[in-house]
Amino acid sequence: MKLILLGAPGAGKGTVAKMLTKVDGSVQISTGDILRGEVQAGTELGKQAEAYMNRGDLVPDSLIMGMMEKRLQQPDTKKGFLLDGFPRTIPQAEALDQLLRKLSIHLDMVVNIDVPRDVILDRLTTRRTCSNSSCQAIYNVKSMPPKKEGICDKCGSPIVQREDETVEAISHRLDTYNQKTAPLVSYYQKKGTLKSVHGTSSDAVVQAVTSELGL
Ligand code: AMP
Repeated sequence: MKLILLGAPGAGKGTVAKMLTKVDGSVQISTGDILRGEVQAGTELGKQAEAYMNRGDLVPDSLIMGMMEKRLQQPDTKKGFLLDGFPRTIPQAEALDQLLRKLSIHLDMVVNIDVPRDVILDRLTTRRTCSNSSCQAIYNVKSMPPKKEGICDKCGSPIVQREDETVEAISHRLDTYNQKTAPLVSYYQKKGTLKSVHGTSSDAVVQAVTSELGL
């Protein structure tokens, strides 16, 4: 399947994407994960992106598009992909349309995961992430703690609260989402490719997507 997952930070795009990869071997492409990996590796892209990310601001469109143009041409995307956290602005969506045309890739659907703001705030402030950039497993101190406090079940690295998941950075990210990313819902609605789903349960979102695609 070839999908865009839209939704505010904390709507569950990453969780849903991971579940969908198990359905048909499509790969999850999370721009946030790629960027965090670049920051940890100390690459030029990582250095340019880091300050924006720590403030909860969007990384400039030009950096994101260069990164995604390369990513979408890697062979593992042939089976399908789930775009998680991209596009985030109208210019990114327009550039993605052009890129997909150039690469002769047809999207199946754009899924909008709709979650109330109070649920999102609660989820994000209790979220913890594995500090190992090649793992980045997600935990939640309330609903999904690691077996050993502060330690990743999968790789044994420390789990941390992301710098952009403090209450201030989260409110800023949600404001940025409302201003810059929420307009993508009507952008894709007009194209007729959008499906909105209530996202309080990731299982229900996955169910809705697979049944829409006849999987
Ligand atoms: P995420 O993990 O998707 O919430 O992304 C974390 C941070 O990475 C965001 O707050 C942005 O600073 C940056 N980022 C991720 N994806 C994008 C994108 N498509 N456009 C601009 N910035 C992005």
